[in-house]
Amino acid sequence: MSDSQFHETITICDECDFVNCIPPLEAGERYRCQHCDHVLVSVHKHVSARIMGAGLSSLLMLALAMSFPFLAFSTNGIKHSVTLFNTLEVLLGQGYLILGAIISLALFVFPIIYLVSVLFLVWSFRHPQQLTLRTIQGYSLHWVTVMQPWLMVDVFLVGVLVALVKMNSLADISFGLSFWAFCGYVILLLKTVVLVDKRWFWHQISGQAANVTGTEATAKGQGLLACHFCGASHTIDTTHCNRCGHSVYSRRPRSISTTVALLVASLVMYIPANVFPIMQTTFLGSTDPSTIMGGVLLLWSLGSYPVALIILIASVVIPLAKVLALSWLCWQAYFPDDKQTEQKIKLYRITEFVGRWSMIDVFVVAILTSLVQMGNFMSILPGPAVLSFTAVIVLTMLAAMTFDPRLLWDKAPESSASALERGTE
Ligand SMILES: [Zn+2]
Ligand SMILES: [Zn+2]
Repeated sequence: MSDSQFHETITICDECDFVNCIPPLEAGERYRCQHCDHVLVSVHKHVSARIMGAGLSSLLMLALAMSFPFLAFSTNGIKHSVTLFNTLEVLLGQGYLILGAIISLALFVFPIIYLVSVLFLVWSFRHPQQLTLRTIQGYSLHWVTVMQPWLMVDVFLVGVLVALVKMNSLADISFGLSFWAFCGYVILLLKTVVLVDKRWFWHQISGQAANVTGTEATAKGQGLLACHFCGASHTIDTTHCNRCGHSVYSRRPRSISTTVALLVASLVMYIPANVFPIMQTTFLGSTDPSTIMGGVLLLWSLGSYPVALIILIASVVIPLAKVLALSWLCWQAYFPDDKQTEQKIKLYRITEFVGRWSMIDVFVVAILTSLVQMGNFMSILPGPAVLSFTAVIVLTMLAAMTFDPRLLWDKAPESSASALERGTE
């Protein structure tokens, strides 16, 4: 099979359930759903070679980022520098096991599993005679799909910059060699993520998935469904995908009740996240705990308006806006108003995209904790709100993932519903 082609008889959209009859795609072509404009497949030029180059370089940059000082801190003649590894050592040494685990997973474990799996897959496409176990390819692609939403290296990088601004008035902070290697790691990892298209990968592993035919209208109406994991099309009585092995369904079971339960849990956690201190700063013997809003107000009073706004939006506005937006979308799935479904889907896509950026404040606290450890003279420790705030972010991200946007199209008002059926004319 060519490295740069994609051909399926039909491809069902994940977001609106519309059956798309896609022509064979060549390198450099991208196909959007004819109904909701969601990108279904991207066939990149020289994709295997580019993924191999970006993925291997990303791992090399990570190795370099672990080898040299990451940040250096100096105040009143005292100098102190930390490596990325020290960041974990300090967190674990101070007993912040969960925060240390979060940093390890977000910065190293998930990205490494992702990159190794992607590189293995690309390598296996080039050496099919050396690989008889297609199941290993399936497992690798499983991990690639599961890990992708949880890669947060770019959010951590913004967290580092925010931490620098926060410490600006108390100390001089400079970048070490590893910081620049870490920037390379982030850019190359994001490049790899952009090049990975799950439908193209599954197509490379097992060729055409669909042995069903359909017309350009809703899949459910034609007795068809799509595997949410690999995108293969099946008849509606299918229970397990014959390509990836996952259970399949026309609409995610208990989608709304699961989303609502996760939203309620995140709202409960939002209270301690804002009431308790997220960071405790000791300076010349006196300890000053600060909440999320306290940190924002302090930055504002020091004149760091852009950073104060970033923290305010990422830590306060986004989590609340996400809960409100998803609650409204759940309501709309049962009691739709006259608004265009396209607008509701745009709102859903935004809530999915912005969720992980709320982790900035958690990363800022972790960075400052590892960097500023000078006993009673100056030290920073995480406050009790860090874990509840992390729980808010994870729960709202899971809530967005469990929401099935196709339910909005099922209850679409007349104008949107008729647009969905226009393809049959
Ligand atoms: Zn669509
Ligand atoms: Zn599947």
